[in-house]
Amino acid sequence: MLSIEWTASQGWLGPRITPYQNFSLDPATCVFHYAFECFEGMKAYKNSKGQVRLFRPDKNMARFNKSSARIALPNFSGTALIDLISKFSAMEERFIPAARGYSLYLRPTMIGTQRTLGVGPPGSALLFVIASPVGPYYPTGFKAVSLEATDYAVRAWPGGVGNMKLGANYAPCVVPQLQAAKRGFHQNLWLFGEKEFVTEVGTMNFFAAIRDKETKKKVLMTAPLDGTILEGVIRDSVLDLARERLVPEGWEVEERKFTMSELASAEEEGRLIEAFGTGTAAVVSPVRNIHWKGRLVNCGLREDQEVGEITKRMKDWIEGIQHGDEEHPWSLKV
Ligand SMILES: *Cc1c(COP(=O)(O)O)cnc(C)c1O
Repeated sequence: MLSIEWTASQGWLGPRITPYQNFSLDPATCVFHYAFECFEGMKAYKNSKGQVRLFRPDKNMARFNKSSARIALPNFSGTALIDLISKFSAMEERFIPAARGYSLYLRPTMIGTQRTLGVGPPGSALLFVIASPVGPYYPTGFKAVSLEATDYAVRAWPGGVGNMKLGANYAPCVVPQLQAAKRGFHQNLWLFGEKEFVTEVGTMNFFAAIRDKETKKKVLMTAPLDGTILEGVIRDSVLDLARERLVPEGWEVEERKFTMSELASAEEEGRLIEAFGTGTAAVVSPVRNIHWKGRLVNCGLREDQEVGEITKRMKDWIEGIQHGDEEHPWSLKV
């Protein structure tokens, strides 16, 4: 593990890479009481030539600093942390499997470590990075997921903090997730507001491909960054790749609000082409259907089909860049 301590009086102290080990913290440490915690999720990839790479780490660093600043924790130079994470990944190189879909998951985390029950800016903090090898999310090939639209709980709201990776955002999402699982669904779909705007699926951003009612054009759409969704690195990458590679094929790409009833009408009229979630863990996760208001909205897959064409192409493009099979400025050689 990599760890770096910070105090308000001394600033950041020397970074250390040590064996994985326990922390010893006073029970009054502020992280335990007021959730002074934020984190990132990223991966180191290896290709067949043994090269180790990070994928758009600058995006993770920018988001990490945005999260920490929101909870009065210090910032750390993004480029310096990329450097340290590169050294750390290179050191742990033997734990990075080279096969497609495999990687070393990296979890940068920052906590407030001041001993106090007073609510205030922490006078000390700890930044640490732990890692674990991970395999493909779908080891036996894609498995399309069934979602339950959650209409009784809200994950995030404009002006809130749901657009940041704060630990405090995640514990409250587990019960709605369990509720969905109890009724036989893999994940829940978070809606927002009385109009039931579609925001995110579990801890993934959500994309839908539809045929526009008026223009008849194919549209790939996802919710805009209005504070109600997490600003995913894969979301951003899918949007960029779609604009670069799908728009020339006649697709339109839209970051806009859309409602569950809009998706349901698209399905009824045969205009819902496919839907998928995006995130660092799975890259893309195909969606089979969404349970909403007592009905099942089918997201364009045949019964014998686990993934749609656009979902599959996106996964191949992004994995190709992540592993360095396609040379791309998003991939940073360690
Ligand atoms: C991390 C996360 C995502 C995905 O972000 P990526 O940067 O693409 O991995 C989406 N939604 C939530 C709620 C998240 O925490």
